[in-house]
Amino acid sequence: MNFKNKYLAELMERIIARNPGEKEFHQAVREVLESLEPVVEKHPEYIEQGVLERLVEPERIIKFRVPWIDDNGTVRVNRGFRVQFNSAIGPYKGGLRFHPSVYEGIIKFLGFEQIFKNSLTGLPIGGGKGGSDFDPKGKSDREVMRFCQSFMTELSKHIGSYTDIPAGDIGVGSREIGYLFGQYKRINNRFSGVLTGKSLEYGGSLARTEATGYGLCYFTDAMLRDHGSSFEGKTVVISGSGNVAIYATQKATELGAKVVALSDSNGYIYDKLGIDLDLVKKLKEVERKRIKEYINVHPDAEYHEGCKGIWSIKCDIALPCATQNELDEESAKLLVENGCIAVAEGANMPSTPEAIEYLQKNNVLFGPAKAANAGGVATSALEMSQNSIRGSWTFEKVDKMLKDIMENIYSNASAAAEEYNMKGNLVAGANIAGFLKVANAMLEQGVV
Ligand code: NDP
Repeated sequence: MNFKNKYLAELMERIIARNPGEKEFHQAVREVLESLEPVVEKHPEYIEQGVLERLVEPERIIKFRVPWIDDNGTVRVNRGFRVQFNSAIGPYKGGLRFHPSVYEGIIKFLGFEQIFKNSLTGLPIGGGKGGSDFDPKGKSDREVMRFCQSFMTELSKHIGSYTDIPAGDIGVGSREIGYLFGQYKRINNRFSGVLTGKSLEYGGSLARTEATGYGLCYFTDAMLRDHGSSFEGKTVVISGSGNVAIYATQKATELGAKVVALSDSNGYIYDKLGIDLDLVKKLKEVERKRIKEYINVHPDAEYHEGCKGIWSIKCDIALPCATQNELDEESAKLLVENGCIAVAEGANMPSTPEAIEYLQKNNVLFGPAKAANAGGVATSALEMSQNSIRGSWTFEKVDKMLKDIMENIYSNASAAAEEYNMKGNLVAGANIAGFLKVANAMLEQGVV
């Protein structure tokens, strides 16, 4: 889409020129700016006060060397990042990603998205993101520990429970959070809620592990119900087999659906009888094995090399929960051809702009990541609240709060879309609703 608004068109050109080669960041910004066309036309003050120029420029980018020693005694060097994007409505909050594909453009795209997502939760958290090009896959626990300690030695200078509170993301689960927390505490001699996604033994919240996947299903359920449907009796395809995919599978099944496929970065499994989730949890969470091992236990299921083919499986609901740009236009066409009625994003920016356009044109209900996967960060904010009051809430209480938050996000995104004459367009609705709170806070705080 081309911008009709000249100011936005020129701003987009400037962003591309100032951030060369960062295509994921350009993609994320373009989508938001496109949604904001009717907003800036109605509210010229956002342009006059430079709110958009300020919003697309991170408040701070920290980039550092992470040296560590592997089990053979060889010195290795990775790169660490923390992008503190926007603190207008609260301290920076967002996960850490450890994956070889990580570079500044990926962290900036994720940090930028996080601003709007965090705003949508209704909780007082700003946007940030971090990570490293370190690959935990195939490393021993000791190597992961040494890496995390080195990473935190630098990161600890820039974070704090009132400044910036990182969490997990791809490649950063409870093992990594444990090592990072231990090192932070050792350096600062302070036991504080500086990270979320902690284990229950040392300040974690019940339901945080489940939150993103559960929240995705609560959001999708609200969207389906608003259109006279539900998960009951539906066939669901979910990509990925990490934290988000596993707990989305669990909740979708609880809500009456049958999940028939999961994947990892090598390939996907199709089990028409419904995925055996206990087995997947054992393979992925305990043994850290590949998803193809599933067919050793269930020989009637199929394993296919390559991840993209997963979208050719006939389903009613598709939940991409692996990584960015994993669902392209060709995949969207297959989903529509096979009668899919809803797509909701568990991963961050998993659908390409062309795929989103195709799905929306073909009346597939579409739940964008910023809204649909906000349950993880929302529950992280609930973990922060529990840490502040030195207390812990029951699973049921946190889960109920999560469900309420996700239903509110759905209704706010839906209402914003309607208010700006884009009824049913939750991409625009989520971007607008997320933007307004942050933009108004920025206006009130002056040019900072
Ligand atoms: P995990 O590391 O637990 O799992 C990631 C899954 O995605 C794995 O199955 C992994 O396969 C697969 N994957 C990763 N990279 C690729 C790739 N390049 N191509 C194909 N598959 C890939 O991460 P999470 O489940 O935590 O995160 C998944 C997505 O959800 C990410 O986009 C993340 O940003 C987003 N998200 C996560 C939240 C959370 O609370 N955890 C909150 C909000 C969003 P393999 O094992 O082979 O690498």
